[in-house]
Amino acid sequence: AALAAVDARDPQVQAFLQVTPELALAAAKRVDAARAAGEPLSPLAGVPLAIKDNMNLAGTRTTCASRMLETYESPYTATCVQRMLDAGCVPVGKANMDEFAFGSSTDTSAFHPTNNPWNTACVPGGSSGGSAASVAAGMTPIALGSDTGGSIRQPAAFCGVVGMKPTYGAVSRYGVVAFGSSLDQVGPFGRTVEDVALAMDALVAGGSDPFDSTAQEVPAVFAEHVGASIAGKRVGIIPAFMEAEGLTAEVRHAVEEAARALEAAGAELVDVDLPHLDAAIAAYYVIGPAEAFSNLARFDGVRYGYQEPGCATLAAQSSLSRAHGFGAEAKRRQMLGAYLLSSGIYDKYYYAAQKARTLITEDYARAYEQVDVILMPAAPRTAFKHGEISDPTQMYLSDMYTISINIAGNGGMTVPLGVGEESGLPVAAQLVAPAFKDERLIAFG
Ligand code: GLN
Repeated sequence: AALAAVDARDPQVQAFLQVTPELALAAAKRVDAARAAGEPLSPLAGVPLAIKDNMNLAGTRTTCASRMLETYESPYTATCVQRMLDAGCVPVGKANMDEFAFGSSTDTSAFHPTNNPWNTACVPGGSSGGSAASVAAGMTPIALGSDTGGSIRQPAAFCGVVGMKPTYGAVSRYGVVAFGSSLDQVGPFGRTVEDVALAMDALVAGGSDPFDSTAQEVPAVFAEHVGASIAGKRVGIIPAFMEAEGLTAEVRHAVEEAARALEAAGAELVDVDLPHLDAAIAAYYVIGPAEAFSNLARFDGVRYGYQEPGCATLAAQSSLSRAHGFGAEAKRRQMLGAYLLSSGIYDKYYYAAQKARTLITEDYARAYEQVDVILMPAAPRTAFKHGEISDPTQMYLSDMYTISINIAGNGGMTVPLGVGEESGLPVAAQLVAPAFKDERLIAFG
C-alpha cells in the first residue's frame, strides 16, 4: 500500500531520492512470517518508514542529496535505522534533503526539489523536507530526520506533521553523515504524537551505542506518556519570542490558542526570560559551519565520493573534486568554517560563540527551575514558495525558533495546529523540555 501511495503521490511531491521496493517487501514478508509463527510483534511491525538520505541503510545509496555522494553505497546500516528495522518497520525509501543538511527548504538538493504536499508551489521546509513531505502526503506514516538547527521541527511545521528532535545524545548518530557533531540529533516524524512516541521508544530501545560515545541510555517510556495528565504543570512562555519581528499574526494566534488549550487541560502559563537568546543564531552560524568544515574535509576526491577525472596532480584532483562535487550552499558553509577556524579569527568568533553557547544553555537551565516545558512557535511563518527567499541570511532566520535548542542540547517537538486562515497552510507550535526529559514533550503534545 505504501509503495502504491508513493507511485500515486510522489510524482507531484518528489519526496524520495530512491524507492526501495525489494527491501520493503522483504521486511514486510519477515513481519508476515513472524505473525504467522505467533511471535510477539512490536507496535511498529509492518509500518512503512522513510529514511533521510544522510542515514546509511545497507543495500541503498546514501547521497546526502549531493553530487559528491551520488554513487556512494551504504557500507552498513546506521544504528537509528537498524533500531527501526528491529521494531519491524518497512523501509520504503531514502528521502530528499538539503545537500548535506545545509538549508531550510530542501531546494539545495543536487537532484530535485521536494514540493509541499499542501501546496506544491511551496517548499516542505528543510533540511529533512523529504521525510516531512512523505508523512504529510500519506506515503509513509513515519519518517526519520536529523536536526542540527531545526531540520526536523521546521519541516514538520511547514508540512503539518509532528516532528521531534530529542535531547542531544538520546539517539545514536552512528551511520548518520555528520554536519555539526555537537549539534546533530536524529528524530522521528509522524502524523500523531502517539506515532512519534512509538518511534522514539524504538529508537532508544537497546540503550546506548558502543559506536557513538555521546549516545546515552534513555528509558523507553515515551508511549506511556501519551495522553498523560498535565494538570498542575507549568508551561513557560518567552514574551520576547511571541513579540518577535518576523512572527506572522496567524502563527502567533495559533500558538496563543495552543497555550489556552494547555491551560484548559490544567496547566499554568508562566512567563520566562532567557536573556541571551538573541545570540543563538549568530553562535549557531559560527559553530555549525566550523564543525561542518571539519566534518566535510574527508570529501577530498581520494577516499570518498566524487573524483574529478584526468587531474595531473593530487592538489588539482582534490580541489576540482570539491569544486564540482559540492553545491553552492555546501561551499559557502565550508568556506565560512575555514575562515572562522583560521588563526587570529578563531578567538574572536569561535571562542565567543562557545561562550554564548554556555550562556544560552544556562538560560534554559534557569527557566526549567520555574517550568516543566516551554511553548513557542516552531517557525516564524508558514511554508514559503520555491525561490521566494534567495538571500542566505533571510533563509537562516527561518530557524530563529529552533536553533537555540540545538545550541543548548535539550529536546523540542513540533505539534501541528491546523491551517492558517491567511495562508491556507499548516501552522504549528513547538514544545521544549529540559535535557533528557523528552517524554514531557509527548505528554504536553
Ligand atoms: N536550517 C539550518 C541550517 O541551514 C538547520 C539545518 C539542520 O538542522 N540540518 O543549518
